[in-house]
Amino acid sequence: MSLLSVIIPSYNEEANIERTAETIGRVLSEAQIEYELLFVSDGSKDKTYELVCDLAQKDARVKGLQFSRNFGKEATIFAGMEYIKGDCCAVIDCDLQHPPETLVEMYHLWEEGYDVIEGIKSNRGKEGIIHKMFVGIFYGIMSSLMKMDMNATSDFKLMDKKVVDVLLSLPEKNTFFRALTFWTGFKSTTVTFDVQERVAGKSKWSFMSLVKYAISNTTSFTTAPLQFVTFMGVLMIIFSVVLGVQTLVRYFMGTAVEGFTTVILLLLVIGGCIMISLGIIGHYLSRIYEEVKGRPKYIVRDKTENL
Ligand code: UDP
Ligand code: MG
Repeated sequence: MSLLSVIIPSYNEEANIERTAETIGRVLSEAQIEYELLFVSDGSKDKTYELVCDLAQKDARVKGLQFSRNFGKEATIFAGMEYIKGDCCAVIDCDLQHPPETLVEMYHLWEEGYDVIEGIKSNRGKEGIIHKMFVGIFYGIMSSLMKMDMNATSDFKLMDKKVVDVLLSLPEKNTFFRALTFWTGFKSTTVTFDVQERVAGKSKWSFMSLVKYAISNTTSFTTAPLQFVTFMGVLMIIFSVVLGVQTLVRYFMGTAVEGFTTVILLLLVIGGCIMISLGIIGHYLSRIYEEVKGRPKYIVRDKTENL
């Protein structure tokens, strides 16, 4: 029988660990699916990892990893993929916002021969208006670049082992898991699910961390902003040719106006564009710098004995 490995990113989730392990375990057992649960503690400062260790002693199917510090959810997923033993692998949040029942549905689709089963949100749960707007813009850009509706996608997925192997073989350090499974191009399908309310604890995302996440993911996936710089340059040249011709004509006709205001405005606009462009280029440079350094995505401090 095949084994399903479930990777559960957990950062300061002491209030959820036991309930999550119990719920997922029960749902999968009832569906007669053989499983292992791998809690990847993202440098949690509370009792998250200790609780996982306790559970692991009672039940060999529960396993755990502890990072040396917080490396982010993306890192926990990739670390998890390195350690799993299953024939397929799912990623699910620790706060039970992703319904474990959907895992069963995903597993059956995998048995039918799909390699990637994407969890698609049928709603986004409770979120503020500004948050929704921001998320909308980010995913709008991503969707048009990926040619896939990213707005509803989530990290809740089930993948075949061969997809995991491909993802692990990617040399880049800066990854965007949500889009990469789609990018691999394996036979995929979707399952919709309702985002549940967080059972306990708080969401780890602040508005600023979401902004950083959005910028870093867009630039790790596409060079479109760099092309945008070129596009702005071309626009600027067309504009300056038109303005140049107009100015010359007026000069020779003797009707040239005092152009101080125009000059100041042009300087400001062009200066602004140049700075934005430099910023964009600088951002890519810093990304290249980070990749070139080749530091690991995460550092594992400890793991349970059964792993
Ligand atoms: N998480 C993580 N590292 C982090 C932040 C979050 O491993 O730096 C985990 C967290 O424990 C949870 C999942 O990622 O299992 C989703 O996080 P959260 O519920 O805070 O995000 P939201 O559901 O609000 O998008
Ligand atoms: Mg959550």
